Amino acid sequence: MLSYRHSFHAGNFADVLKHIVQVEILDYLGQKDKVFDYIDTHSGAGLFNLKSEHATKLGEYLNGIAKLNENDFPELREYFRAIKVHNDSEQLEFYPGSPLIAQHFLRNEDKAWLYELHPTDFELLSENIRQTRRVRVKQGDGFEGLLSVVPPISRRAFVLIDPPYEIKTDYDKVFKVVAKAHKKFPTGTYAIWYPVVDRHRIEKLEKSFANSGIKDIVRFELGLSADTAERGMTSSGMIVINPPWTLKAKMEKLLPKLVKAVDENGTAFSKCDTWVAE
Ligand code: SAM
Repeated sequence: MLSYRHSFHAGNFADVLKHIVQVEILDYLGQKDKVFDYIDTHSGAGLFNLKSEHATKLGEYLNGIAKLNENDFPELREYFRAIKVHNDSEQLEFYPGSPLIAQHFLRNEDKAWLYELHPTDFELLSENIRQTRRVRVKQGDGFEGLLSVVPPISRRAFVLIDPPYEIKTDYDKVFKVVAKAHKKFPTGTYAIWYPVVDRHRIEKLEKSFANSGIKDIVRFELGLSADTAERGMTSSGMIVINPPWTLKAKMEKLLPKLVKAVDENGTAFSKCDTWVAE
């Protein structure tokens, strides 16, 4: 039973970190004159109205994208550009999800494989995305989808894995599926989003990756407050396997600025580290 709807959370501080990392990877891949595949295992609806009943119910974007002043972040020009194409005025009304952000960067020959399981979000995604022969939207399990498309013919790919972790087994599943995919396609760039609700789950994930034999893994995290035993997400991060060589240095400089932007109580923090060296 699926109950998670990203429309309640779009544009929050976790999306900001996730999509900044996504943009950096897409931008990097697009710099080479060689096609690549974009694989989004958990795509969501693609576009979110920040004035909708869902978005305003929790108002999470107010402590996310709404906190970022474009003038303070010239290094995020491409990220802001990808958002602006969905807004007619300077007012922020729509926030793009990962598939529409990706579409902004894909060139004619690049391919996209977009998976979404929820029937309503699948329908919305099908309406929101420009579908072409090279952009495939599938209603189905993104974990299975990933394993069915790697290695891609292009031999260059960016895989975004962004589960809701509603089902606690998703933490183990993420590791197992990535390990399998990596075995079939070791040169791909994989980015895995995680929430910090219970820190020990992330520590376990780190141990699993450290013992997996997979090399070149970095982690970026942006948190609003210290870990707690209470309910709710306090922080979130991105694990990136085979990152662009420029990514860690860029995030090292950027994360402290993001911390400042989203900090409300003097408790925000960031992490930027190498889990496994090259
Ligand atoms: N990646 C999106 C973005 O950045 O805009 C947000 C995705 S949201 C966190 C997770 C999505 O995964 C939800 O829309 C949910 O319906 C979908 N989902 C849950 N389990 C799935 C599965 N096994 N395969 C594909 N989609 C799934």
